Amino acid sequence: MPELPEVEVVCRGLEPLLKDQQLKKVHAFRSDLRYVLPDFSPLHGAWLKKICRRSKYILMYFLCADGQQRILCWHLGMTGQFHVLNGDVKAGLHEHVRFDFVGGLSLRYRDARRFGYAGVFTERTWLSSKWMKVLGPEPLAKDFSAEYLYEQCQQRKIAVKTFIMDASVVVGVGNIYAAESLFLAGIHPKRAAGNISKPRINRLVISIQHVLQDAIEAGGSSISDFVKVDGKPGYFAHAFQVYGRAGEPCLHCGQNIRRITQSGRSTFYCLKCQR
Ligand SMILES: [Zn+2]
Repeated sequence: MPELPEVEVVCRGLEPLLKDQQLKKVHAFRSDLRYVLPDFSPLHGAWLKKICRRSKYILMYFLCADGQQRILCWHLGMTGQFHVLNGDVKAGLHEHVRFDFVGGLSLRYRDARRFGYAGVFTERTWLSSKWMKVLGPEPLAKDFSAEYLYEQCQQRKIAVKTFIMDASVVVGVGNIYAAESLFLAGIHPKRAAGNISKPRINRLVISIQHVLQDAIEAGGSSISDFVKVDGKPGYFAHAFQVYGRAGEPCLHCGQNIRRITQSGRSTFYCLKCQR
């Protein structure tokens, strides 16, 4: 499943190719993916001005023919991929939506499992939308600080790993990155969120940012089904420290890495290094 770093990499890959291109027409080859697809017609003839990310949503900002700005918001679900092609290339397997640009480029959306979804918004309707309303701060933004996270933790008995994966606390800390961040911060994944000192919370914030930034730089890291915009797989360039390493020696202390299940997800950690 594409995580925050992969989505960031997709945005960074798409923007230089499509910025300031004029959209001619959108062809949807089916009426729904996870949900019913939106009416794309307000975007016909619009200029694509910016592509960025909020949580795991790709936001494409269009200046439309009626003078309005509209935001095409896209979630890749489990297996969604965007490709940019030049010329009239035949639709590939699982291609569901095609965006034709005036200059001859086309943006293709493929999604084998069809858990992706999309919406067309104005700035105002996007900010008040149900997708946006439930989102906490961005992990790489200034408002995600030790002060903020420490305050959120107070009185919380929930396990810290489950806590940092809650999008209303902070967005984009998926299962892999939660395990890696907690290892880096030396915090046991089952420790109650409200039972961690402020200096350790500070270390956790720095670790989350470090792990995500590293993954973005490595080009995204999902285990399967993720292909970057240029078609090359975006696997992590370097190995994980704990994720997927159950039974293997900890890279710091040599103890075997353990695997437990928390909220139905696998957690990997070192009993000696994480307290
Ligand atoms: Zn260890």
